[in-house]
Amino acid sequence: MQYIKEPIYCLSCGGKLSEKPDENNRIRRYCPACGWTYYANPIPASAFVVLGDNHELLLIKRKNEPKSGSWALPSGYVEIDETAAECAVNELKEETGLIGEVTESLGYFFQDSSIYKRVITFGFLMKITGGFLQPGDDALDARYFPIDELPEIPFSSHNKFIEIIKKKFEL
Ligand SMILES: [Zn+2]
Repeated sequence: MQYIKEPIYCLSCGGKLSEKPDENNRIRRYCPACGWTYYANPIPASAFVVLGDNHELLLIKRKNEPKSGSWALPSGYVEIDETAAECAVNELKEETGLIGEVTESLGYFFQDSSIYKRVITFGFLMKITGGFLQPGDDALDARYFPIDELPEIPFSSHNKFIEIIKKKFEL
């Protein structure tokens, strides 16, 4: 897997893109035919912390890239028609079968991505209100881990959210 490439053709009209410096001298791809400009932005994602009755941490084994096969917080990319918190509620159900609600925002962190180059990940603490724990279509496994026996998690933002939670609950 390598970075997605910068577009060659206009996403609006399909014309071939050219490059020119903007007013800050940053080179941008633009479409001479329709004027559309390509801006590379960090992709928004949500990751969320769910704690069990004894403060165990819910993790999923990732089915998809990046880091397929690794354990991580449940997470997903924010769709165009949802908020970061709605993304958390929807992804929780998709990945783990559990129904939950966001109880607290844990802030956000930027991290490098092997696919999208740069991702901004919003963190949430969630409370489970229903459902049954069962890995969904985009997870190989889903289970609770004792907080002091966590597997290696390859995403810096996830580890930072976990540190925030450990401090908060003095775990
Ligand atoms: Zn165009």
